[in-house]
Parts: sequence; structure tokens; C-alpha cells
Amino acid sequence: MTRDPQFMTCQEFQEQMAELIGSGEDVNNHPHLRMCATCRALLADLQTIADAARELLPVEPPAEDLWQRIELAIQKEDSSLDPG
Ligand SMILES: [Zn+2]
Repeated sequence: MTRDPQFMTCQEFQEQMAELIGSGEDVNNHPHLRMCATCRALLADLQTIADAARELLPVEPPAEDLWQRIELAIQKEDSSLDPG
């Protein structure tokens, strides 16, 4: 990109915002945010939602255990369907 990020539109910024947050960059210091209250508010909303989601979700989902339990449930289901 050859353009100064300060002159990007809100749409352009918002399209990149998730990527910027994901890359670990300090989005709060982004040149566009310094001059755009709309995107500052939007980012604050997103961070509030992200923080809330982190509190709701377990840090380490027990994926393997869950899959084993699903497999056991399927096996039970199979044997109960077996007429013999
Ligand atoms: Zn903006």
C-alpha cells in the first residue's frame, strides 16, 4: 500500500481492523484512530465484546476429551439400535 494510513477511509480501516488486532499490533495508536472518533468507538466496542468472550470461554477447550465422549455416545447409540 502506497497511501498514508492516516488517509484511509473508515471502510478501509474497518476491513483491516480484525487483521491488525490479530497481528498483535497496537491498534489504538493507528493513525486513522487518532483522527476518527467513529472507529475509536467501534474498536472500544469490539474490545469490550472480545474481553467478555474471553471470560465466557474456557482458556483450553477440552477438545480431545469431548471427541472421545462423542465417540462413546455414538457407539452406545449403535449398540442400542442393534436388534441382536
Ligand atoms: Zn474511521
